[in-house]
Amino acid sequence: MSATVLEIKPVQAIPDFLIGEMRAKMAYVDEAVAGAQVALAGNLITLQLKRALGESEQALIEQKVQRVVVAMVKGAFKLKVQVLEDFLDRPVLSAVAEDPTNTLLARGELSREATGIYVLGPLLTRLVAFFEHQFVDLASSFQAEPYRFPTLIPARYLERVDYFSAFPHSLTFATHLRSDLDVIDHFASHAACDEHGLTTSMESFSGVETLLSPAVCYHLYFSLADRPLPSGQVVATAVGNCFRYESTNLTSLERMWNFTMREIIFVGPKDFVLANRETARQRMSEKFAGIGLAYRVESANDPFFIGEFKKQAAFQSAFQLKYEIRARLPFKDSTLAVGSYNYHQDFFGRKLNMTLPDGSPAHTGCVAFGLERMAYAFLSQFGLDPAAWPEQVRRAIA
Ligand code: ATP
Ligand code: ZN
Ligand code: MG
Repeated sequence: MSATVLEIKPVQAIPDFLIGEMRAKMAYVDEAVAGAQVALAGNLITLQLKRALGESEQALIEQKVQRVVVAMVKGAFKLKVQVLEDFLDRPVLSAVAEDPTNTLLARGELSREATGIYVLGPLLTRLVAFFEHQFVDLASSFQAEPYRFPTLIPARYLERVDYFSAFPHSLTFATHLRSDLDVIDHFASHAACDEHGLTTSMESFSGVETLLSPAVCYHLYFSLADRPLPSGQVVATAVGNCFRYESTNLTSLERMWNFTMREIIFVGPKDFVLANRETARQRMSEKFAGIGLAYRVESANDPFFIGEFKKQAAFQSAFQLKYEIRARLPFKDSTLAVGSYNYHQDFFGRKLNMTLPDGSPAHTGCVAFGLERMAYAFLSQFGLDPAAWPEQVRRAIA
């Protein structure tokens, strides 16, 4: 019988600490999947389908789902969450009861160009500028050197740091027409779009030499690669467009395909990187207190793809490599990562041959803030009327 909803009993029960990750990964199982839920008991996965599928197609999807279940659940153990700061109870405007995305869209403060791609209007833009100012101020307190990085990143670069095996699902590829007069002429006179985008045949396009950059700090590491660090240590800052294709998880301003990140990046000896990461956290803590944001800082792991997830998540947790600033979203009684404090050990130093004066590989770390998410979380807590905002933000924006 054909169906538009698929209920799958996982071959292994999904433990509670994996339910969120499992739900997110379902977006990449099959193009027919429109949405997913995982029962709190971990014994049922429900998939909404974009169209009615027959039994054989359903069976193929179920097989893929079970592959994910086995890869993620087998041998997984609960990682201890370490909480460094907890200000989730900080008072926010209790009247805000809904996702600000809808109100922003209705008011023309936000417009959606396509899935995960948004234009921000004046209110959001001013708010983003306010947060940018806070982060640039933090960067200055470390005398960070300013950089500007490109939006494109060479495929070779990402290959060199194993990005393709860790995060294949969220890559965005850049291409261009082949430099061939016939191809270009044909495109110029025939280019057209249907509901899936351009109808041009793939043969007209070049190979993929570059991608759209998924993060900011990689560009710094590549610019320092294959030589000793100039003065043994570097502190840099940059803001940039980042791209992560998050499939059907791109549902609101919460998760975008194209977003902006400000990073402060530390390269040098281990103690230097760890001490600066900790100082950055303490300085941000004071800033968040001034802003009035309700949040918590806790250990986390990167959203690695299925095959790498278990091993890498455990590794990150064991070595306390990543802490997220999770802001409260009162309307859905949950939290959202607005930034992270990261330590990569000597991973980039080794992969890219960045060396310290004694010849050993450099260590790296970064603090990264998602600018749209900062604004979004703030509006979720304090609403769209600046009159009700904490004094400091209201004054800065007036
Ligand atoms: P999440 O846990 O939400 O998937 P992440 O762990 O992948 O995020 P990082 O790699 O630490 O995030 O990136 C730093 C910051 O960039 C995040 O804290 C968040 O503010 C922002 N960010 C990451 N992915 C997105 C996205 N798809 N849309 C908007 N902002 C994002
Ligand atoms: Zn970074
Ligand atoms: Mg995360």
